[in-house]
Amino acid sequence: MKFELPGLPYAIDALAPIISKETVEFHYGKHFQTYVNNLNNLIQGSKFENANLDIIVRDSEGAIYNNAAQVWNHDLYFKSFSPTPKNEPSGDLLNAIIKSFGSFGEFKEEFSKVAIALFGSGWVWLYKKSDGALAISQESNAGNPIHSKSGTPLIACDVWEHTYYLDYQNKRADYIKNYWNILDWKTIEASF
Ligand code: MN
Repeated sequence: MKFELPGLPYAIDALAPIISKETVEFHYGKHFQTYVNNLNNLIQGSKFENANLDIIVRDSEGAIYNNAAQVWNHDLYFKSFSPTPKNEPSGDLLNAIIKSFGSFGEFKEEFSKVAIALFGSGWVWLYKKSDGALAISQESNAGNPIHSKSGTPLIACDVWEHTYYLDYQNKRADYIKNYWNILDWKTIEASF
């Protein structure tokens, strides 16, 4: 299967100034595209040649896994933003957040803390466990909950430096603080 860079659901400059046009050009246009190209090259002639992305993320290892997971993770990451976001969850998802974290505010505080504390490159996830409870996890590099079979991803927050360095330099905490202002809970609710 040949994978393609998925389209963005907004204009390339629509998330500015929180995520600038330049960052989207590099992060989406170059980094994400490179993971797609690498994956297409790596699966040729392998047992994953005709597999769908979820299966590759779950079952592969090494370079194929790293690139497949980065394709999967960036797809969710870029899809979850909107220039006109729904800023808070409601309904069943809000109830699940309250049950697992106490309140939406406490969830955001805990998620932010985990994102700021992640050492080096990686991802912070909100995912749903098989018993229905929600959990936050911190994964190094391309780490994805589908691979560790810990649950179904709802939010993927990229904290690799390429995500924020052009806009915030070393200040990851500022990126995380602003991140909430473009995260669209409507799209997250749709996958819950
Ligand atoms: Mn990235």
